[in-house]
Amino acid sequence: MERIAVFPGSFDPITKGHESIVKRAIPLFDKIIIAIGINAGKNSMFDLEQRKLWIKSTFKNNPTIEVTTYAGLTVDYCKAQNANFILRGLRSYSDFDYEYGIAQMNKSLISNVETIFLLTEPEFSHISSTIVRDIIRNKGKVEQFLPNAVTL
Ligand code: ADP
Repeated sequence: MERIAVFPGSFDPITKGHESIVKRAIPLFDKIIIAIGINAGKNSMFDLEQRKLWIKSTFKNNPTIEVTTYAGLTVDYCKAQNANFILRGLRSYSDFDYEYGIAQMNKSLISNVETIFLLTEPEFSHISSTIVRDIIRNKGKVEQFLPNAVTL
């Protein structure tokens, strides 16, 4: 059976933290689907197409990585893609608290999909898309937090 993982998120925008998690997960899975969730309740700074393009060009040399968008429940999307793993990154206790609830709920919705967590690398533990967006709004420099393919 192919090991297919879905890495769901907003990626608004993709950061070096996300990039690192995906790169470290490449050897673990046959395919990783980076799936941008379409969340009607969440106002994004960058539109879906832009976010998708940045992720695609970040991983353009990695044939096992796909970039998609999805609406609805992550577990339903996993089922539709025949994915048996959900990949998530952990930076802190607060990430853990949040992720723990979601992972347990997902597990009760679909028992054959396992959530796999990778701990952030220390140099990326402070990077979050939320803070990056805040710096952008206030006209600060964010290049150091973003993959090279992301040009603002
Ligand atoms: P969401 O809106 O679903 O939280 P994000 O795009 O913010 O989506 O994050 C997607 C995943 O990437 C989450 O599991 C998040 O914890 C993880 N992540 C975000 N930033 C980092 C980072 N700097 N290091 C490790 N993991 C991260």
